[in-house]
Amino acid sequence: MNWFSRTPVHQRVRTFFNSVLSHNRLAHAYLLYGAESAGMSGFALELAAALNCQSETERPCGQCAACRKTARLNHPDVKYLFPAPKAVYDTPKKFLELLKYRAEHPYRVLPVGGTQNIPIDAVRGLKDEAKYAPFEGGYRVFIIEGVESMSREAANSFLKLLEEPPDRLLLILITQDIHALLDTIRSRCQPVYFPAPTMEQVRAILLKEKPDAEISDALIASMEYNPDRILHALDHPEESFAEEATQFLRGAVSGNWTILHPVIDKVLQKKDKQILYRFLDALTHWLADAFHHALIAEEASLFLETEAEASRRFAEAYTRLDYDNAMQLIHNTRAMLEQNARPEMALSRLAIDLQNTIRAAR
Ligand SMILES: [Zn+2]
Repeated sequence: MNWFSRTPVHQRVRTFFNSVLSHNRLAHAYLLYGAESAGMSGFALELAAALNCQSETERPCGQCAACRKTARLNHPDVKYLFPAPKAVYDTPKKFLELLKYRAEHPYRVLPVGGTQNIPIDAVRGLKDEAKYAPFEGGYRVFIIEGVESMSREAANSFLKLLEEPPDRLLLILITQDIHALLDTIRSRCQPVYFPAPTMEQVRAILLKEKPDAEISDALIASMEYNPDRILHALDHPEESFAEEATQFLRGAVSGNWTILHPVIDKVLQKKDKQILYRFLDALTHWLADAFHHALIAEEASLFLETEAEASRRFAEAYTRLDYDNAMQLIHNTRAMLEQNARPEMALSRLAIDLQNTIRAAR
């Protein structure tokens, strides 16, 4: 039997589950943990499909009825929970919409905002379901994404299921923050670490979502191998902040805050961190384009075509710029924001640091 031959997952994870499944040693609960970009939700669905797949040669085959139903998340034996605001769990239509999104985009971040958790009623629902044998005679698989966001009450209720799991039920728990999980839950699952994705894995994920897109290795690297960020950038070119990146760098180099302030205001307007990150991506891309000009003076594929003239002139003016260093400043800003630094402070600081680095290269 060929397991997961077409699943975009890190080799270490593939090897592990290959061995588990070919020796018939499935545990009753796995805790998948790793970074957002590691593809844990996508793999959980592939594992659920593999367990019920009817193929004799390759699992999941992606073709049989079980595989197709699992991929649409409407297999009666596969249940999926995720953290969401209370309103989502109170409105079946909203819940189903998100479930559909999860099925169609298994490697992306669910578009849910607001305060999120997994309510106790949803956990009780799973426990009730677990009392019955699988409808289709195979495996029952319950997948819980963001399991750390269960309330303590919900977690304690869930614990009963983990302690006395029925036969032919597999629990797949997913977390990006294994330390936020109750010890009692963690200790009853077999943990499986998902390493950050490789270039090859990211390409395979992107291919599933966008078979026709031409995506360079440089773009993938600049988006930190995060398929969701890359796909978002491709879907929303209007959010690329190309022009703002030019303005910001112009303001930073000249130390002109009447240029900088409007850009910073615009980026911070919606108080949305994801927007802020995309602006930082645009700055990185802008510098990557300038570096490209400096390296080979020809118009090849640029990230921000509309700003090509500006980045080319910049490259000519600052021939001694340490681009690695400049891009590292942007990277550091992102890291500071992830640790909840104040956005205005972080961007102002970035402008000043960029000014010093760039001016030194004149
Ligand atoms: Zn199949």
